[in-house]
Amino acid sequence: MDRILISACLLGRPVRYDGSGKRLADSRIDRWQAEGRLVPVCPELLGELTVPRPAAEIVGGSGEDVLAGTARVLAATGEDVTAAFLAGAEAALDLARKTGCGRALLIDRSPSCGSLSIYDGTFSGRRIVGSGVVAALLAAHGIDVYADHEIDRLAEAMANSPLREPYAG
Ligand code: SF4
Repeated sequence: MDRILISACLLGRPVRYDGSGKRLADSRIDRWQAEGRLVPVCPELLGELTVPRPAAEIVGGSGEDVLAGTARVLAATGEDVTAAFLAGAEAALDLARKTGCGRALLIDRSPSCGSLSIYDGTFSGRRIVGSGVVAALLAAHGIDVYADHEIDRLAEAMANSPLREPYAG
């Protein structure tokens, strides 16, 4: 459990809905990457969504509610993409387990990866407290989830986590 599942867009990979990345410039990311601790994932691509794709938001609740079947994920076009988000979340959890990730560093506000806040489902830019679908699923399975702006807290947790074997995936 010495590895970190990380949102691929935080490494600058162009996987976001608009084809951009959102690199988190931080020397600890660079060090963890060099040590082979990072396991990049884009759950929405694992759910077979494409780049680019319409922006999506959770409507009627949070990621936990989507997992419980009481909220949906809708694209800005109105398309229901709940099934793709659920499939991607399950695939991300599977990857985390197979690669020994006990922690995850995920970009906040995303309907998948958000862990502290998400948009409220009105596509108006308003935020609410809550998790995205992946963050909720990982947390429910005992993986410690950190938002991108909680990297200091993650670094403290990693200080006593010796690496057994680098991830070469
Ligand atoms: Fe980044 Fe997560 Fe959205 Fe993929 S699903 S683009 S990794 S925030």
